[in-house]
Amino acid sequence: MAEQAIFDVFVIGGGINGCGIARDAVGRGYSVALAEMNDFASGTSSGSTKLIHGGLRYLEHYEFRLVREALMEREVLWAMAPHVIWPMRFVLPYHKGGPRPAWLIRLGLFLYDHIGGRKLLPATATLDMTRDPAGKPLKRLFTKAFEYSDGWVNDARLVVLNARDAANRGARIMARTRVISAKRDNGTWTIETEDTTTGERRQTRARMLVNAAGPWVDAVLASALGKNDVHNVRLVQGSHIVVRKKFNDPRAYFFQNPDGRIMFAIPYEDDFTLIGTTDRDYTDNPADVRISDTEVDYLCKAASEYFLEPVEKDDIVWTYSAVRPLFDDGASKAQEATRDYVLRVEGDKATAPLLNVFGGKLTTYRRLSESALEKIGEAIGVKGAKWTAGSSLPGGDFPAKGYADEVAKLHKKYPFLAAGHVRRLVRLYGTRASALLGQASNEAGLGRHFGADLYEAEVKWLIREEWARHAEDVLWRRTKLGLKLTPGEAAALEEYMRGAANAAA
Ligand SMILES: Cc1cc2nc3c(=O)[nH]c(=O)nc-3n(C[C@H](O)[C@H](O)[C@H](O)COP(=O)(O)OP(=O)(O)OC[C@H]3O[C@@H](n4cnc5c(N)ncnc54)[C@H](O)[C@@H]3O)c2cc1C
Repeated sequence: MAEQAIFDVFVIGGGINGCGIARDAVGRGYSVALAEMNDFASGTSSGSTKLIHGGLRYLEHYEFRLVREALMEREVLWAMAPHVIWPMRFVLPYHKGGPRPAWLIRLGLFLYDHIGGRKLLPATATLDMTRDPAGKPLKRLFTKAFEYSDGWVNDARLVVLNARDAANRGARIMARTRVISAKRDNGTWTIETEDTTTGERRQTRARMLVNAAGPWVDAVLASALGKNDVHNVRLVQGSHIVVRKKFNDPRAYFFQNPDGRIMFAIPYEDDFTLIGTTDRDYTDNPADVRISDTEVDYLCKAASEYFLEPVEKDDIVWTYSAVRPLFDDGASKAQEATRDYVLRVEGDKATAPLLNVFGGKLTTYRRLSESALEKIGEAIGVKGAKWTAGSSLPGGDFPAKGYADEVAKLHKKYPFLAAGHVRRLVRLYGTRASALLGQASNEAGLGRHFGADLYEAEVKWLIREEWARHAEDVLWRRTKLGLKLTPGEAAALEEYMRGAANAAA
């Protein structure tokens, strides 16, 4: 099937970078289409450590541009989406003879406090670990620690909110749509896509193509664009384990392992601790990435060096793994490859331009999108100006520090909901939670119960507003209720969703 309209921009990839670029572009007045071959954020963008951070470690590799940009983004992103992004304090214990001298850490944190446009985030502090509650769950290895600020993000939701906002502004956003080929034809692109559910093929035309396929960026160049011998990105696997809660403090830990690597232990989804990550080169299909036994052993062993209560394999309730699509700068070690992004344009208006996106972090996606829009403007003509700083993502239109007020407001309106349920809904949907709950005045009004605090009203919302089609989309990306539902409950949800999809077809 061929479409008549010629889009200004066609984006391949519904991870954070593709969705961020699509949103920025449509907001400036370009006509935009985006195709994601699976679910939004099903690639790297749901497998991160979930930090909106400057990246203290990158200072060691002199990545000052990246760190400054990332630090500046912390409060910009928090203000855009205070439901899915919030500040977090990190405790960085240290001792004499550790992998990095205290002066180096102090210098890094000085930069953190002073070059990062910090207005609301509290500054760095020094802790006496013999007295501070942060010392309690740890072995008595450390007498001192630094405590500093960074941000936490619900990565998968950040992606889908960008997709939703882009669609609200008029972009054509297509999930489960794989780009098969893209050919230049008289100054425009003809892009062939396949609906991965129905197998239906369609041709779409566009003036400019953006390849934001993350770890698949080279694969797209090879398979869809017919290029030979492409080696732009280095794939580096990173895995995490989620274990039963190892500490009660709301602060996260930043540990420096003796091998020089760093590791986070972060309070996660109320009842759990998230531990990661690893860093190793990866050469297989990114879709097949899984944590290895060696990584599990490494993470358990390393964490057990710090916590009084050891981290055992039996404590693990979930693991996830993803690959970083890092621009290949020829670094010898995976940990040393640049975390900065690189945007390359091939072709011009006459020949139909292509923009390839290499690398990029969740933290810098908005700035990456702005840089991409500069390139798009140069290639096919400038439309609107920058606009995303100061904007709100769907549900994020409340003050950065207003989460507790939103929770109180929602609970007043829906007093029959449990307090934890209200908190979860505001964290995920912000001001849109009332629209999701609608006229419900008691539990029965929320429809079928699927387990934990998941009801039909939420599932229907996710199908209608957020492109969810499978239980996995709901349980592991739109929410993390996969940690709470039993396998039987998850199977019943999948059956329900299949029925809902068939009814809609
Ligand atoms: C272990 C780990 C920890 C990390 N921690 C952090 C962190 O704490 N903070 C931070 O800021 N960053 C972090 N990052 C980096 C960040 O997660 C990534 O840089 C970012 O998510 C990359 O997004 P992307 O959109 O480029 O790629 P992806 O999210 O992978 O998106 C690319 C999409 O393209 C789609 N696609 C591919 N081929 C096609 C095709 N032919 N047709 C249609 N669609 C296609 C894929 O399905 C995929 O969804 C981490 C990364 C890893 C791996």
